[in-house]
Amino acid sequence: MYIGRFAPTPSGRLHLGSIMIAIASFLDARLNNGLWHLKIDDLDSFRTKQKHIDQIKAQLNELNLSWDNEIIYQSRRVERYEYFLNQLKKTKKTYICSCSRKKILEESESGVDGFIYSGFCRDMNYKNEENNSIRISVNDEPIIFKDGLQGEYKQNINNEIGDFVIKRSDNIFSYQLAVVIDDHIDKTSHIIRGSDLLESTPRQIYIQRILGFKNINYTHLPTLSYRGRKLSKSNGDNYLIETQPKNIWLFVLKLLNQTLPARNSSLESIIEFAIKNWDIKRIKQRRFIEIDDYIRTS
Ligand code: GLU
Repeated sequence: MYIGRFAPTPSGRLHLGSIMIAIASFLDARLNNGLWHLKIDDLDSFRTKQKHIDQIKAQLNELNLSWDNEIIYQSRRVERYEYFLNQLKKTKKTYICSCSRKKILEESESGVDGFIYSGFCRDMNYKNEENNSIRISVNDEPIIFKDGLQGEYKQNINNEIGDFVIKRSDNIFSYQLAVVIDDHIDKTSHIIRGSDLLESTPRQIYIQRILGFKNINYTHLPTLSYRGRKLSKSNGDNYLIETQPKNIWLFVLKLLNQTLPARNSSLESIIEFAIKNWDIKRIKQRRFIEIDDYIRTS
C-alpha cells in the first residue's frame, strides 16, 4: 500500500517551498489511492513552537490538504526512539563522543553536509552519556539509491560525512535517527521532500539497513529561492502565502510543471483536476528553482 507523508518542522509558517512539497506529496498519495500522513517534527523544543503547529494546520486546512489518521508528533515518540537506539547499541556500532562543536569546527574539513567528522572518539570507549553525543560508526561502502527525480545518487558516508550523531549532547534524538524510526513505524512507502535532504538520505538508508527496515521510495523536489536566497520558515519568508489558496495551488502546479486547470475554477475543482492529471514525471529535474522568473510570467 502507498503511504506518503508530509513532515514539517514547526519552526515557522510554511513557506511556498514547503507548501509545494505538501501539495506534491498529497497529490502523489491521492493519485495512488494511498494514505497521506501529517507528521510534526517537533523534537527540538528550542526551534519549534505550538504557535507554528497551529499555523501549519490552519494553512493546510485552508489549502484543502486533508491528512489521514491522527497527526503524528515526534515529541510523543521518545520512548520508541530510545528502544531503537538500544537496538543500535547492541550492534556495537555506536559510541559516545565528547567533541565540542568548537573542536569539530577547528579540526575538520567541510563535506557535502557540514563538517566531516574524523572519528576522533570512535575508540575512546567513553562511558558517560551525560552532556555527550552518541554517534554511529559508518563504513567505506558507498550507499547508492535511485531518486525519483534527481536520478542515481551515490555517497560514501565515511569520506563525505563521517560517523554521524544519532543522539545529541543536549539529549535530543537527531533528525537522522528519528525520521528513520518514524517512517518505519508509520509504514511510509514513499517520501517526497526537499532536495536539501538529498545528502541526508544515505545516512537514513544506512540506519534502515542496520535495523532491517524496508526500503523507501524517495523523490527530492527542487528547493525554492527568491532573489538569490533560499526560502526558509525561520526567516518568515511569506512570498505568496497570504494570497487566496486557489492562487497558491495554481502557482505551485506551475512550478511543478503540471497541466493547469482553468484559472476560474473553484478550489475543489482545481484539486480534483490536479489529482486526476498528476504526473510526477513532468517535474523538471533540478535541485533549485528561482521563483523570480515564474513571478514575472504569472
Ligand atoms: N522536518 C523536515 C523539514 O521540515 C523534513 C523531514 C523529512 O521530510 O524527512 O525540513
